[in-house]
Amino acid sequence: MKLKNLEMALQRCEGYSRPRAALEQYQTPAPLAARLLFDALMSGDIEGKRVSDPGCGTGVLAIGAALLGAESVVGIEIDEGALDTARANAALLEADVEFVQGDVKDTLLSHRVGACDTVIMNPPFGAQKVHADRPFIDFALDVAPVTYGIFNAGSIPFVEAYSGQRAEITAKTVGKFLIKRTFAFHTKDIQEIEVEILRLKRIL
Ligand code: SAH
Repeated sequence: MKLKNLEMALQRCEGYSRPRAALEQYQTPAPLAARLLFDALMSGDIEGKRVSDPGCGTGVLAIGAALLGAESVVGIEIDEGALDTARANAALLEADVEFVQGDVKDTLLSHRVGACDTVIMNPPFGAQKVHADRPFIDFALDVAPVTYGIFNAGSIPFVEAYSGQRAEITAKTVGKFLIKRTFAFHTKDIQEIEVEILRLKRIL
Protein backbone atom coordinates (compact mmCIF):
# COMPACT_ATOMS: atom_id res chain seq x y z
CA MET A 1 0.00 0.00 0.00
CA LYS A 2 1.26 3.48 -0.84
CA LEU A 3 1.36 6.35 1.64
CA LYS A 4 -1.37 8.20 -0.28
CA ASN A 5 -3.66 5.15 -0.27
CA LEU A 6 -3.22 4.64 3.44
CA GLU A 7 -4.00 8.30 4.02
CA MET A 8 -7.17 8.02 1.94
CA ALA A 9 -8.28 4.90 3.79
CA LEU A 10 -7.70 6.50 7.22
CA GLN A 11 -9.59 9.58 6.09
CA ARG A 12 -12.72 7.41 6.09
CA CYS A 13 -12.52 6.80 9.86
CA GLU A 14 -15.26 8.46 11.89
CA GLY A 15 -14.17 10.88 14.60
CA TYR A 16 -15.31 11.04 18.23
CA SER A 17 -19.10 11.31 18.51
CA ARG A 18 -18.80 13.06 21.90
CA PRO A 19 -15.20 14.23 22.34
CA ARG A 20 -14.15 14.67 25.97
CA ALA A 21 -11.78 17.55 26.68
CA ALA A 22 -10.50 16.10 29.96
CA LEU A 23 -9.21 13.05 28.09
CA GLU A 24 -7.70 15.22 25.33
CA GLN A 25 -9.62 13.40 22.65
CA TYR A 26 -8.27 14.62 19.33
CA GLN A 27 -8.23 12.20 16.46
CA THR A 28 -4.89 12.18 14.65
CA PRO A 29 -5.44 13.67 11.18
CA ALA A 30 -5.01 11.03 8.47
CA PRO A 31 -1.87 12.59 6.87
CA LEU A 32 -0.03 12.66 10.21
CA ALA A 33 -1.18 9.15 11.17
CA ALA A 34 -0.07 7.83 7.75
CA ARG A 35 3.30 9.56 8.16
CA LEU A 36 3.96 7.92 11.54
CA LEU A 37 2.89 4.52 10.21
CA PHE A 38 5.06 4.79 7.11
CA ASP A 39 8.10 5.89 9.11
CA ALA A 40 7.57 2.79 11.26
CA LEU A 41 6.95 0.54 8.25
CA MET A 42 10.14 1.70 6.50
CA SER A 43 12.16 0.98 9.64
CA GLY A 44 10.81 -2.58 9.72
CA ASP A 45 8.67 -2.00 12.79
CA ILE A 46 5.17 -2.83 11.43
CA GLU A 47 5.06 -5.65 8.90
CA GLY A 48 4.79 -9.04 10.65
CA LYS A 49 5.08 -7.32 14.05
CA ARG A 50 2.88 -7.35 17.14
CA VAL A 51 1.73 -3.76 17.57
CA SER A 52 -0.14 -1.97 20.32
CA ASP A 53 -1.77 1.46 20.38
CA PRO A 54 -2.40 2.77 23.92
CA GLY A 55 -5.04 5.54 23.98
CA CYS A 56 -6.23 4.39 20.56
CA GLY A 57 -9.31 6.62 20.56
CA THR A 58 -11.25 6.04 17.36
CA GLY A 59 -8.55 3.62 16.20
CA VAL A 60 -6.80 5.45 13.35
CA LEU A 61 -3.24 4.36 14.20
CA ALA A 62 -4.18 0.79 15.17
CA ILE A 63 -6.24 0.31 12.02
CA GLY A 64 -3.46 1.73 9.84
CA ALA A 65 -0.95 -0.71 11.36
CA ALA A 66 -3.28 -3.62 10.57
CA LEU A 67 -3.69 -2.40 6.98
CA LEU A 68 0.11 -2.27 6.62
CA GLY A 69 0.49 -5.93 7.53
CA ALA A 70 1.11 -6.08 11.27
CA GLU A 71 0.86 -9.63 12.60
CA SER A 72 -1.50 -8.51 15.38
CA VAL A 73 -2.73 -5.18 16.69
CA VAL A 74 -4.21 -4.27 20.06
CA GLY A 75 -5.86 -0.89 20.63
CA ILE A 76 -6.31 0.16 24.26
CA GLU A 77 -8.64 2.96 25.30
CA ILE A 78 -10.22 4.17 28.53
CA ASP A 79 -13.41 5.50 26.92
CA GLU A 80 -16.00 2.91 25.85
CA GLY A 81 -17.73 5.39 23.54
CA ALA A 82 -14.51 5.95 21.57
CA LEU A 83 -14.00 2.19 21.42
CA ASP A 84 -17.43 1.72 19.81
CA THR A 85 -16.38 4.14 17.07
CA ALA A 86 -12.99 2.41 16.75
CA ARG A 87 -14.68 -0.98 16.28
CA ALA A 88 -16.98 0.46 13.61
CA ASN A 89 -13.99 2.07 11.85
CA ALA A 90 -12.07 -1.21 11.87
CA ALA A 91 -15.09 -3.04 10.42
CA LEU A 92 -15.49 -0.37 7.72
CA LEU A 93 -11.85 -0.71 6.65
CA GLU A 94 -11.77 -4.48 7.18
CA ALA A 95 -8.88 -4.17 9.59
CA ASP A 96 -8.26 -6.91 12.14
CA VAL A 97 -7.69 -5.14 15.47
CA GLU A 98 -8.40 -6.30 19.01
CA PHE A 99 -9.78 -3.46 21.11
CA VAL A 100 -9.41 -3.52 24.89
CA GLN A 101 -10.95 -1.15 27.40
CA GLY A 102 -8.33 -0.11 29.93
CA ASP A 103 -6.46 2.67 31.70
CA VAL A 104 -2.74 2.97 30.92
CA LYS A 105 -2.20 3.99 34.55
CA ASP A 106 -3.37 0.53 35.59
CA THR A 107 -0.16 -1.32 36.43
CA LEU A 108 -1.78 -4.66 35.58
CA LEU A 109 -2.67 -3.54 32.04
CA SER A 110 0.66 -4.57 30.50
CA HIS A 111 0.16 -8.10 31.85
CA ARG A 112 -3.36 -8.16 30.45
CA VAL A 113 -2.37 -7.16 26.91
CA GLY A 114 1.09 -8.76 26.93
CA ALA A 115 4.37 -7.80 25.32
CA CYS A 116 4.60 -6.63 21.73
CA ASP A 117 7.24 -5.48 19.22
CA THR A 118 6.12 -1.92 18.50
CA VAL A 119 4.01 0.70 20.25
CA ILE A 120 2.40 3.43 18.16
CA MET A 121 0.69 6.19 20.07
CA ASN A 122 -0.70 9.68 20.10
CA PRO A 123 -1.04 10.20 23.83
CA PRO A 124 -2.64 13.23 25.52
CA PHE A 125 -0.09 16.05 25.36
CA GLY A 126 -0.81 17.07 28.92
CA ALA A 127 -2.62 20.29 28.02
CA GLN A 128 -5.56 19.49 30.32
CA LYS A 129 -3.77 17.41 32.91
CA VAL A 130 -0.08 18.11 33.33
CA HIS A 131 2.11 15.11 32.55
CA ALA A 132 -0.81 13.07 31.21
CA ASP A 133 1.66 11.61 28.72
CA ARG A 134 3.92 10.07 31.39
CA PRO A 135 1.90 6.89 32.03
CA PHE A 136 1.83 6.35 28.26
CA ILE A 137 5.62 6.48 28.06
CA ASP A 138 5.83 4.10 31.03
CA PHE A 139 3.37 1.69 29.44
CA ALA A 140 5.16 1.81 26.08
CA LEU A 141 8.60 1.13 27.58
CA ASP A 142 7.09 -1.66 29.64
CA VAL A 143 5.59 -3.60 26.71
CA ALA A 144 7.76 -2.91 23.64
CA PRO A 145 11.39 -2.39 22.58
CA VAL A 146 10.36 0.27 20.02
CA THR A 147 7.85 3.11 20.32
CA TYR A 148 6.62 5.76 17.91
CA GLY A 149 4.81 8.62 19.63
CA ILE A 150 3.41 11.98 18.61
CA PHE A 151 4.45 14.78 20.96
CA ASN A 152 4.31 18.56 21.05
CA ALA A 153 7.20 20.18 19.18
CA GLY A 154 10.08 20.72 21.57
CA SER A 155 9.30 17.67 23.73
CA ILE A 156 12.66 15.94 23.25
CA PRO A 157 14.27 17.31 26.44
CA PHE A 158 11.23 16.18 28.48
CA VAL A 159 10.99 12.76 26.82
CA GLU A 160 14.73 12.21 27.26
CA ALA A 161 14.71 13.30 30.88
CA TYR A 162 11.61 11.26 31.69
CA SER A 163 12.71 8.06 29.99
CA GLY A 164 16.18 8.48 31.52
CA GLN A 165 18.26 5.31 31.29
CA ARG A 166 15.29 3.36 29.93
CA ALA A 167 15.29 4.53 26.30
CA GLU A 168 16.97 6.67 23.69
CA ILE A 169 15.41 8.72 20.91
CA THR A 170 16.60 7.37 17.57
CA ALA A 171 14.51 9.36 15.07
CA LYS A 172 12.41 12.48 14.80
CA THR A 173 9.98 13.58 12.09
CA VAL A 174 8.39 17.00 12.25
CA GLY A 175 4.70 17.32 11.43
CA LYS A 176 1.57 19.40 11.89
CA PHE A 177 -1.60 18.60 13.77
CA LEU A 178 -4.63 20.51 12.53
CA ILE A 179 -7.29 20.79 15.19
CA LYS A 180 -10.79 21.89 14.24
CA ARG A 181 -12.81 23.89 16.77
CA THR A 182 -14.05 21.16 19.10
CA PHE A 183 -14.32 22.48 22.64
CA ALA A 184 -15.73 25.70 24.12
CA PHE A 185 -12.24 26.94 25.07
CA HIS A 186 -11.08 26.81 21.44
CA THR A 187 -10.85 30.31 20.03
CA LYS A 188 -10.04 29.54 16.38
CA ASP A 189 -11.88 27.51 13.74
CA ILE A 190 -8.67 25.69 12.96
CA GLN A 191 -5.57 25.59 15.10
CA GLU A 192 -2.30 24.30 13.78
CA ILE A 193 -0.02 22.63 16.29
CA GLU A 194 3.59 21.76 15.51
CA VAL A 195 4.34 18.22 16.58
CA GLU A 196 7.13 15.71 16.34
CA ILE A 197 6.99 11.99 15.82
CA LEU A 198 9.68 10.43 18.00
CA ARG A 199 11.03 6.90 17.80
CA LEU A 200 12.15 5.57 21.16
CA LYS A 201 14.34 2.54 21.44
CA ARG A 202 14.40 0.77 24.76
CA ILE A 203 17.81 0.31 26.33
CA LEU A 204 18.10 -3.24 27.55
N1 SAH B 1 -4.56 7.69 19.45
C1 SAH B 1 -5.82 8.28 18.96
C2 SAH B 1 -6.43 9.24 19.97
C3 SAH B 1 -5.56 10.37 20.44
S1 SAH B 1 -6.33 11.34 21.72
C4 SAH B 1 -5.55 8.91 17.62
O1 SAH B 1 -4.39 8.94 17.23
O2 SAH B 1 -6.46 9.39 16.95
C5 SAH B 1 -5.78 10.51 23.21
C6 SAH B 1 -6.64 9.31 23.59
O3 SAH B 1 -6.14 8.77 24.83
C7 SAH B 1 -8.11 9.63 23.84
O4 SAH B 1 -8.94 8.79 23.08
C8 SAH B 1 -8.32 9.39 25.35
O5 SAH B 1 -9.61 8.94 25.67
C9 SAH B 1 -7.25 8.36 25.63
N2 SAH B 1 -6.81 8.33 27.02
C10 SAH B 1 -6.57 9.40 27.84
N3 SAH B 1 -6.15 8.98 29.03
C11 SAH B 1 -6.12 7.62 29.00
C12 SAH B 1 -5.74 6.61 29.93
N4 SAH B 1 -5.33 6.94 31.16
N5 SAH B 1 -5.78 5.32 29.54
C13 SAH B 1 -6.20 4.98 28.29
N6 SAH B 1 -6.58 5.89 27.37
C14 SAH B 1 -6.54 7.20 27.71
